[in-house]
Amino acid sequence: MVSASKRLFRVLRAMDKKAFSLITELAQGKKLMRDEYRYLIENNTPEAANFAAELAVEKRKEIYGNSVFIRGLIEISNICKNNCLYCGIRAGNSCADRYRLTRNEIMECCREGYSIGMRTFVLQGGEDPFFNDDTVCGITLGIKEEFPDCAVTLSLGEKSRESYKRLKDAGADRYLLRHETADCGHYSLLHPDDMSFENRMRCLYDLKETGFQVGCGFMVGSPHQTSEMLAKDLEFIADFSPDMCGIGPFIPHKDTPFGEYPPGTPELTCFLLSLIRLIKPNILLPATTALGTVSSDGRARGILAGANVVMPNLSPTSVRKKYMLYNGKVSDGAESAGSLAILKEQMNAIGYEVVTVRGDIIK
Ligand code: SAH
Repeated sequence: MVSASKRLFRVLRAMDKKAFSLITELAQGKKLMRDEYRYLIENNTPEAANFAAELAVEKRKEIYGNSVFIRGLIEISNICKNNCLYCGIRAGNSCADRYRLTRNEIMECCREGYSIGMRTFVLQGGEDPFFNDDTVCGITLGIKEEFPDCAVTLSLGEKSRESYKRLKDAGADRYLLRHETADCGHYSLLHPDDMSFENRMRCLYDLKETGFQVGCGFMVGSPHQTSEMLAKDLEFIADFSPDMCGIGPFIPHKDTPFGEYPPGTPELTCFLLSLIRLIKPNILLPATTALGTVSSDGRARGILAGANVVMPNLSPTSVRKKYMLYNGKVSDGAESAGSLAILKEQMNAIGYEVVTVRGDIIK
């Protein structure tokens, strides 16, 4: 353990003073202004990132100790009515090989996940009209009946307030809906005309008022993104105060309009993970699949930057390659539940422990 004064000395020598004091203020619970977030994003040196990570890890340990929560991710359908410009399963991608899981297949995934220690199941998919309220409520009730000690998280896109209420009443606990960007103009550059920033925000506030534990999030390095926009994302997280936040690098998919854009970097993603941890110390923060895709040790790097959740893939192997949001998405190794042991070893190697609990937010 390095003593606090030594640490301070080491950091001060190498790091610009303004970044140091802004990160320190964040760690003290102070709210930053947008241009201060922007300053940090634009001065993302390895020294600043290490300092932020050190403080973020300290905060996370105070609340969650060495535990890493796991969520079994079940990709229930890659059929989608939307045409988001970045996404490989957009409606307009005629090359995508479409599938939808049956209720029985979903239950089988949960059984496998439960047997290896998962106590949260995340049902994620495109906006597939087949999965209407009745169907999703039925599946949620089925999971809660068979696994009453588990949490159900839904990530099925934009719905009406009434639909969200029905899903909550059926027993769903959490809902993930990334805001994608907190800048309205940027939102319209990433989405088709029939989708709107206002509706995305409406959904997030409805979800919160319905009583869900809510997750928002965004891609790092998405096309047309500026540091001002990322600063707005951090400001939004500070104001909205979500229970969860999913961030990962943008990764191009060749059959989308953004196929030629460069991917986001693991460095900036990890720095932002640390800042988000400092903004909201008890947030549930995954080291995402996309981070694990741009960097072979991305999962571990995310945890060491302040993340405390990983979401191994529980989808049947036969469909895994079809849920291709971006090229190169990892679909085996520590990503598959069958290889959970590898993930556990990776976490042990950096001083963390994968635990068998629901893993709700500690308030
Ligand atoms: N239809 C659901 C689930 C979307 S997929 C919804 O709208 O919430 C989950 C997330 O994957 C998206 O929110 C998006 O942020 C991310 N994603 C999609 N395409 C991506 C890409 N090319 N690179 C990185 N992340 C991507």
